[in-house]
Amino acid sequence: MIEFQEISKVYEDGFKALKDISFTVKEGELLVLIGPSGCGKTTTMKMINRLIEPSKGTIMIEGKDIANENPVNLRRNIGYVIQQIGLLPHMTIRENVSLVPRLKKWEKDRYLDKVNELMEMVGLDPETFGERYPSELSGGQQQRIGVIRGLAADPKIILMDEPFSALDPISREQLQEELVKLQKEIHKTIVFVTHDMDEALKIADRICIMKDGEIVQLDTPENILRHPANDFVHNFIGEERIQDNIESEGVNLPSLKKLMVKPITAYSTRGLAEALKTMRKRRVDNLIVVDKDDTYLGIATVWDAQKNYQNENLTLNDIKQTDLKVLTPDVPAEEAFQRVNTSQYGFIPVIEHDSRKLLGIVNRASLVEHIVDQIIQ
Ligand code: ADP
Ligand code: MG
Repeated sequence: MIEFQEISKVYEDGFKALKDISFTVKEGELLVLIGPSGCGKTTTMKMINRLIEPSKGTIMIEGKDIANENPVNLRRNIGYVIQQIGLLPHMTIRENVSLVPRLKKWEKDRYLDKVNELMEMVGLDPETFGERYPSELSGGQQQRIGVIRGLAADPKIILMDEPFSALDPISREQLQEELVKLQKEIHKTIVFVTHDMDEALKIADRICIMKDGEIVQLDTPENILRHPANDFVHNFIGEERIQDNIESEGVNLPSLKKLMVKPITAYSTRGLAEALKTMRKRRVDNLIVVDKDDTYLGIATVWDAQKNYQNENLTLNDIKQTDLKVLTPDVPAEEAFQRVNTSQYGFIPVIEHDSRKLLGIVNRASLVEHIVDQIIQ
């Protein structure tokens, strides 16, 4: 359907953005171009509708060299969806979606039917949204309109350059799912650029992995996962696998004892001036108050120390807070972190069950440290 034959691109400044790449996009498939920023994805894509011309090589669409086509005609027959959707602000949604069909001089009934059909496909009621302006829609809704505008003139080919990158994760996943469903119905030939492997695995029929202007591997998601061509591909998907583990199975947490960190403590007999000085030096806003046997007594905050500072007779024992929840080391780490997250101080002391001896604290940083250790190994 789309055939790149030994395509190179050297930009005016001499930079070689594409180095002799050849590949084919099959009719009706969704091919994802993926790779690090600057690897040449957008350059590749923009050659398909001649927004960028190759320095060398031939691109064929349905057996015809596109160098011989009129670029404007070519573009009207290729849908194009980009990150900054570029909806026209002074046009209603209906006018925006019907833009290309109107340019192509479709009959009014025909394009109005098309607009209704497409809006319903992405769950935006044409009655409700048709006459609204882009600014009256959420980001996710606007991007849906961007997508269906790319489809409106029934092009055989659709180019999508990181169309969902600017969306929040939830809208993004919704749109990915909608695109997969939509594609089942419309069977267009879609070239989709992303730098997000999760996205690629979710939507692609085949994935083309690029690096420094070259194709590293082009295959189905399954084959790429099973047989990565080299270390680069391996690492590229490896990062995602770790991501998956964290999201779907949760981090494997060791016992609470291993996750505890050393708290900054002070004896209950200490005065407030001394406590404030310690807090300042250790850059904390509270101290854990213990007695001489390290028995946990409470915590002293910088606010309470400041508030009572004028009274020279007070010690930490007088100003300590005792309402703070504590944990014992047998509490599962998952539960502990849930409690840390809802604790007003952002940490929880861990104490021995009977003696109430202070063992340590857990805070959000302990979890972060653990996750980072798992990822970097
Ligand atoms: P991607 O979409 O994969 O992030 P691009 O295809 O946009 O990458 O760019 C590939 C490389 O070509 C980048 O290093 C980029 O800086 C360079 N490049 C893109 N456009 C131009 C240009 N007009 N002139 C010079 N270099 C460019
Ligand atoms: Mg790009």
